[in-house]
Amino acid sequence: MPYLFIVLTWMLSVSCFAAENLDLNGLRENTPLGLHLKTLRTTRDDTGLTDHIRQAYFQGGSHDALNFGYTKDRIWLKFTLSNTSDLDIERMLNIRYPLLDKITLYSDSQPEPLYSLGRLLEGKNDQALDVPASYFVMPITVKSNSFETYYLSVESDDSLALPIYLTTQSALETQAFQYAVNFAFYIGLVITNILFAFFMTLILRDREQLYYCLFMISNHFAFFSVLEGMPNTLLGIDTLFINRDIIPFVVCFSMLLFTLFAASYLRLYSLAPKAYRLSRVLVGLMIFTLLLCFILPYFYAITLSTFASILVGMFYGSVAKTYVVRGRPGIKSFILAWGLGVAGAMIYGLKVWGIIPVNFFTSYSWHIGTLLEAAVFSAMMAYRAAQDRKERLVALQSLNKKERDLRHTQEQLLATESAAKTELELQVKQRTRDLSNLLGQLEDENKSLAELSINDALTKVRNRRFFNDIYPQMWNDSIEERAPISVIMLDIDHFKRVNDDYGHLCGDHCLVTLAQIMQSSVNHSTDVVCRYGGEEFAIILTRTTAEQACVVAERIRENIEMTIITDGEHTFKVTSSFGVAGLIPTEHASPDALIAQSDAALYKSKRNGRNRVTMPDDEKNKPIPTCLP
Ligand code: GH3
Ligand code: MG
Ligand code: MG
Repeated sequence: MPYLFIVLTWMLSVSCFAAENLDLNGLRENTPLGLHLKTLRTTRDDTGLTDHIRQAYFQGGSHDALNFGYTKDRIWLKFTLSNTSDLDIERMLNIRYPLLDKITLYSDSQPEPLYSLGRLLEGKNDQALDVPASYFVMPITVKSNSFETYYLSVESDDSLALPIYLTTQSALETQAFQYAVNFAFYIGLVITNILFAFFMTLILRDREQLYYCLFMISNHFAFFSVLEGMPNTLLGIDTLFINRDIIPFVVCFSMLLFTLFAASYLRLYSLAPKAYRLSRVLVGLMIFTLLLCFILPYFYAITLSTFASILVGMFYGSVAKTYVVRGRPGIKSFILAWGLGVAGAMIYGLKVWGIIPVNFFTSYSWHIGTLLEAAVFSAMMAYRAAQDRKERLVALQSLNKKERDLRHTQEQLLATESAAKTELELQVKQRTRDLSNLLGQLEDENKSLAELSINDALTKVRNRRFFNDIYPQMWNDSIEERAPISVIMLDIDHFKRVNDDYGHLCGDHCLVTLAQIMQSSVNHSTDVVCRYGGEEFAIILTRTTAEQACVVAERIRENIEMTIITDGEHTFKVTSSFGVAGLIPTEHASPDALIAQSDAALYKSKRNGRNRVTMPDDEKNKPIPTCLP
């Protein structure tokens, strides 16, 4: 930390040696007084230049620039100026350090103070000569051929440094002008850096840039401005808070922002989580210290804030060490930037301590260090932003390529899916067609099966099984309807001979022809023609009396008798015999009995010479009825 070395060095008191009178005659235009000053420490209770002070032992000075560090003491400086010329000589006694609370200059010959200046003495600084300097100037005149001893009492709650000079007015003006130019140049560069960080913050919306921007505003701008006494010199602000008491706040705030910035810059969150948590604790501590500054007296506030900043320095020192050991990224630039800031402060401290000579470089080393630090950090952050952008672009490109590939694959998939869908649809259509064909076939098969199960395969009239099923139902219907039902039994005459004479196939053809005659000879759709057995047929006629059935049987007999049967090879005629029975059935009557009756009548026809229709015995004498309407 830049503050660390400064504080440590300024805290060291300097032992002095005895100094001689300083003759103003022929003295250089700008002379450091350090070596000619004797010093004495007293408590702040002492008031004024008393004999007690005059008689006290003052130690001799050994440095151009005295430094007493933080002290609650009042520092007394004693020096004697002589004038061996014949003219009165005027010189500007100037203390080039603005952080002094009370400065009182006495001459030995006069009990009243010559000047009372300092931050705590508002308005009294006007006693100083009208020289635009940021520090304290007191014109003193030594009469010709005389000497005068001066006592200067100084108090400050800040680190107490006393770079005191005796300067001619013109040299002081030149010096003040040069200083103003240098400081303006420094502030200009600081503002440039702040603006750069500010715009980077706006453009990148990056918190790290914001931290650094605020850190520069707080540390490089506010801290140095107050340190150089700018509020008073430039803006004419006399308020003690702005000129002095604000410093611990600025220090705490600067350290708070530096902690946040460095944690982000070093990527502590991802690279060193433990250190990151510690940095958060430090941030909390800084905020706490900042709050304490509101209630603590200035001396304790500045001491506390200085030690808090030492703590931050130690923390990041150890983080940097770990990073170097582990070869973490970003540490080189961090050490370079921070090192430049610290080195500048150290050189400044060495100058203040008097170890290295006072020149332009050592006087402004702290300022130069902070500027270089800011330059390196700004450059690195800009470089990182550019790198990030490059990486983002590359990532974006690869993402775009991936997206293109993905879209291509998706399109291919969709095409494949659509082809598969079409193919599937075709297959489904094909299968559906096949299935409906099959179903049609099955239906046909079922139909023919059903046909087969109820029809006779050869003659296509109903078969015996169907007769067995349907006859009882028709019987029951007739009972319910109280309607007559009749059965005609038919047997082909001498059919065996047909088989024997013309062959079985011809016999089959004969059977088919007769069945067709029978089917076409019945009038009602409800009449059922069945093949009852080999060459026997049975015809059930509902709502038909035996007489009416007889008419039907007769018609069939005649049709058969008249039909010439031919299979292409043989031509012949057959006759057939009939037995007819009928009744209005009741629940007590047996359907089989009706069959038996017609069967018996059939045998009767056979016995009586064939080719005839016969009814049971009790009806045999009845005349054969004509056809029913
Ligand atoms: P009738 O009834 O006049 O007394 O003489 P028939 O020659 O018809 O007498 P029978 O009942 O003894 O003969 C029936 C013949 O019918 C015997 C059998 O070979 C023949 N037959 C039975 N079923 C079929 C058939 O499906 N096809 C052929 N070709 N002949 C059959
Ligand atoms: Mg027979
Ligand atoms: Mg027969």
